[in-house]
Amino acid sequence: MTESQDPADAVELLRADRITKDFVIRQPRRKGGHQTFRAVNEVSFALREAETLGVVGESGSGKSTMARIVGKLIRPTSGQVYSRGESINDVSPVGLNAFRQTLQFVFQDPYASLNPRRAVGDSVVAPLVYLSGRSLTRRELRSRAQQLLELAELPAAFADRYPRQLSGGQAQRVGIARALSIDPEIVICDEAVSALDVTVQAQILTLLKRLQRERHISYIFITHDMAVVNEIADRVMVMKDGQVVEIGEKEQILQGPEADYTRKLLSSVPTVPAEWSADRAKS
Ligand code: ADP
Ligand code: MG
Repeated sequence: MTESQDPADAVELLRADRITKDFVIRQPRRKGGHQTFRAVNEVSFALREAETLGVVGESGSGKSTMARIVGKLIRPTSGQVYSRGESINDVSPVGLNAFRQTLQFVFQDPYASLNPRRAVGDSVVAPLVYLSGRSLTRRELRSRAQQLLELAELPAAFADRYPRQLSGGQAQRVGIARALSIDPEIVICDEAVSALDVTVQAQILTLLKRLQRERHISYIFITHDMAVVNEIADRVMVMKDGQVVEIGEKEQILQGPEADYTRKLLSSVPTVPAEWSADRAKS
């Protein structure tokens, strides 16, 4: 039998089943105790092997909280997260470590996520050191760091630099190199290109797409920018007020959105629709 091209047959790496997160909001005592705020409300979706799920929505719509739940940085108030079909809610420490070796984050501010006093090469291999449990010699780590930097299209000699000596785009490449150090199946990019100017943004998106092709990585790609979604996503999930507004194939969501909210997000990117129809004409 030949390999099927139907994405419905692709391996499901991650599934969120009605995940919900309530944050406790402290109130002045005279207002009577605390209140809760529902940042994520019954969100369900699946992430398939080697696909990019774009997640869009305005600031405050719960995108980062959703990502922190599925990346096991925080616990959901209710709902389940499954990794290859196994619930990770009450996973053992060993299981948790195994899960963490399959998933990495790349955040918006690369400088904030790099230790300013640590040489870039040491930062790049840090996840390898604390997650893999393998003891590598200093020499092995250095050579690994150099390979990872080159994978992110930076010179190997950058291993000896410090974050302040890097441009924003270079620092984000370091963040990507570090995320790849443990060879993850899933990378969650939370506004990973939002702080970069448009030219650098395009270069980083090209890099991420190349890495996906070569290493079969799945991305959850969070952004408030529909033009970025158009560039990188295979499927799109639109969020508003902690809920999923709609989810589907990129073409369907961008060209025939069902929700008024999605149409509103699309209309806030005036230059993009012409490019989309140009893309369509090419294919
Ligand atoms: P997005 O990433 O889409 O901008 P977030 O997930 O960061 O949205 O936030 C969703 C909502 O939850 C926001 O209103 C935010 O203020 C609130 N929120 C996020 N984290 C916390 C927290 N630790 N405590 C209280 N409220 C929070
Ligand atoms: Mg966010």
